[in-house]
Amino acid sequence: MRYVSTRGRAEVLDFAQAMMTGLARDGGLYLPETIPTLSAEQIAALEGLPYEEAALRVITPFVGDSFSQDELSGAIARAYAGFDHVARAPLVQLAPGHHLLELFHGPTIAFKDFAMQLIGQLFQMSLAKSGQRVTILGATSGDTGSAAIEAFKGLPNVDVFIMYPHGRVSAVQRRQMTTPDDANVHALAVDGTFDDCQARLKELFNDHAFRDAVGLAGVNSINWARVLAQIVYYFTGAVSLGAPGRAVDFTVPTGNFGDIFAGSIAKAMGLPIGRLVVATNQNDILHRALSTGEYRVGTVAPSISPSMDIQVSSNFERALWLAYGRDGAAVSQLMDELKSGGFAISQGALQALRETFASGRVSEEETSAMIATIRVETGQVICPHTAVGVAVARQNLRPGVPMITLATAHPAKFPDAVQAAIGLRPDLPPQMAGLFQRAERSTRVENDAEKLKSLILERRSA
Ligand SMILES: *Cc1c(COP(=O)(O)O)cnc(C)c1O
Repeated sequence: MRYVSTRGRAEVLDFAQAMMTGLARDGGLYLPETIPTLSAEQIAALEGLPYEEAALRVITPFVGDSFSQDELSGAIARAYAGFDHVARAPLVQLAPGHHLLELFHGPTIAFKDFAMQLIGQLFQMSLAKSGQRVTILGATSGDTGSAAIEAFKGLPNVDVFIMYPHGRVSAVQRRQMTTPDDANVHALAVDGTFDDCQARLKELFNDHAFRDAVGLAGVNSINWARVLAQIVYYFTGAVSLGAPGRAVDFTVPTGNFGDIFAGSIAKAMGLPIGRLVVATNQNDILHRALSTGEYRVGTVAPSISPSMDIQVSSNFERALWLAYGRDGAAVSQLMDELKSGGFAISQGALQALRETFASGRVSEEETSAMIATIRVETGQVICPHTAVGVAVARQNLRPGVPMITLATAHPAKFPDAVQAAIGLRPDLPPQMAGLFQRAERSTRVENDAEKLKSLILERRSA
């Protein structure tokens, strides 16, 4: 399987290389040159399989010769062994025809664990083979950072630096990043927003001399291997509701467009997904783009669903590349225009996007009210991100088509927002007890690429 960049001017790589590289050298994102498909029989055969076995079948066609079947199945088994639910991604009913796919049973109780735990295992196998060392650099709106630290802490040959926006992540999120005491973990509190962190990340990756000097590797959702791991639960969720014999819709609380983009790949592989509904909070660039065709960057307004407080959704570039008929030059041009605030999507591309994606946005008040409504209607407590999804899903239900909303985090990860909505403080699951007793360790740093570079050079344990 060959991987090409969305901007068309970077080296073509195999799966392991694309995974170790993260961002392509032309500034683009890697995607498989062709998307493999599964037949209706192959999809039907996933029904009732253990999650790990379904994952192996969905992931294998993308991996090529990079790993053997034994290596891959070992990595998948180790990745999900620490989850606290045997189904890994259990489906629970919210109402007739509306289901929640619970993606918060991993070690950091958000869906990022599905991809990060697997990528940690795959990195380790690759580095053991090559004897290389890498410096993992990530930017996080909260959940990616903790998931990355949890997946890479203590690994030989790896330093992990995570930038998060100072003062803009929840206390649980921050403590998950600042309390691990492994020497290879470096939490960086950047004076800025998540978009600033992501912009600095791209700057550091685009400084090729620095990149090579420290062996920079990226595990943000721009990393194709992250997207790949997330394709699996669209299959397991849809198959348990009757796919491939029946179409299923999904609603996805969306920030960087990684999770929902994985759904669009599942659809391209042959899974009968009717609609993929993008759910945003008040930071609604994606909803505006899909409704109006204008992708215009606004200013980030902090919300009670902070992991979605994003104005530039990196993975949207991948969807654009597909919608523009894999035209790297067209995508490069759009990304140039983005530097000065935004761009208009062509009519043809907009039409192509709307064939797969619908969208909706909810306010802070509606989000809070939905946490309360679901508690009254079902007794379940949902996190604010999930509540954004559920609210948008309810506006998009279609008779006869089951809807699955992705439950992206455990409510205990956002206790203040949940308490404000229902007057109850959700308990942390047992494996996280003690989080508030441990000592924190983090470095405050200016929103400046040069400062970040010197810090990384000084701290990494090369
Ligand atoms: C990361 C995250 C999202 C957004 O996912 P994207 O892949 O960035 O669109 C939504 N909810 C939670 C809880 C998250 O951690």
